[in-house]
Amino acid sequence: MKILITGITGFVGSHLAEYCLTKKGVKVYGTILSHHLGDELKRIKHIKNKIKLFECDLTNRIAVEKVLSLVKPDKIFHLAAQSFVPTSWESPEYTLYTNIMSEVNIFEVAKELKLDPVIQIAGSSEEYGLVKRNELKIKESNPLRPLSPYGVSKVAQEMLAYQYHQSYGLKTIITRAFNHEGPRRGKQFVTSAFASQVAAIEKGQQEPVIRVGNLEAWRDFSDVRDVVKAYWLATEKCKFGEPYNIGTGQTHQIKEVLKILLSFSKVKIKVKQDPRLMRPSDVPILQCDVTKFRKATGWKPRIPLKTTLKDTLNYWRDEL
Ligand code: NDP
Repeated sequence: MKILITGITGFVGSHLAEYCLTKKGVKVYGTILSHHLGDELKRIKHIKNKIKLFECDLTNRIAVEKVLSLVKPDKIFHLAAQSFVPTSWESPEYTLYTNIMSEVNIFEVAKELKLDPVIQIAGSSEEYGLVKRNELKIKESNPLRPLSPYGVSKVAQEMLAYQYHQSYGLKTIITRAFNHEGPRRGKQFVTSAFASQVAAIEKGQQEPVIRVGNLEAWRDFSDVRDVVKAYWLATEKCKFGEPYNIGTGQTHQIKEVLKILLSFSKVKIKVKQDPRLMRPSDVPILQCDVTKFRKATGWKPRIPLKTTLKDTLNYWRDEL
């Protein structure tokens, strides 16, 4: 079976590639941006000789055509995206263009080449955006009220996946994953931002102060290594064109994440609020109702948050 992972050098892509390689008879292919030919390949350096990489900016249709016609994948995990919420406020046009056009190109080219792969679309809990306390836990039927251009781009991605399934029978799988964390997460994301600062302080590379934004938000955190298994199961067991939530059903405040990471620290660290790290509108609470996905697949998250955070911190201790 041939698997194509877009965004394979990203945080989730690297873990998913590793997981796919544990399956018998699976060949893994991935797309990377050309600037990843150097340092950014580090997330997949340990598996680089087991996978085949193609340079491809997915917003370029001709480049997508080249990759799909060469690989002819049985499954596509479409992870590539501008995935950082704050960047989406700075560059809404870039975020919308990248996230929407990359997917349109994959769909159009698959259609044109008469390929018939299962295509997983990595939607997000950010699509729900503003959720009232009496609307928890969040089911797939909750209203979508995205609070960032990133959230809007993910709603659009999902609507396209629905429409291409209805209109052309494309085998699209729509997942709405809640936050997933772990080793190799980019430093700009909150768990890695804290963990990398703890590691830097321990090594004397930073004064013993962590700067933080909004600590009040509640999030449903999974471990990335559980989520990639969920993505695989989704492509085996879920219905095409329908959304599925993926999360734990547990919710933790950001301040709790910070407290856990500080408890692992070998040195004493102060915490300082930094107004520059506050967002124009932050999603206050996200808590997943995972019943539909669990019924379809039997998936259960295995790795507790403390382990995820400890592994993330150890990753940064090795990296810095
Ligand atoms: P990352 O940002 O780590 O990875 C995304 C990858 O896509 C990067 O390697 C990026 O390259 C690449 N990319 C961006 N634009 C293009 C393009 N035009 N052509 C080809 N590749 C491109 O994100 P994650 O791994 O964390 O997330 C994977 C997917 O899952 C994303 O779609 C994200 O929105 C979604 N998701 C993630 C969640 C999470 O908690 N991690 C939660 C819910 C959904 P570069 O780094 O150069 O931009």
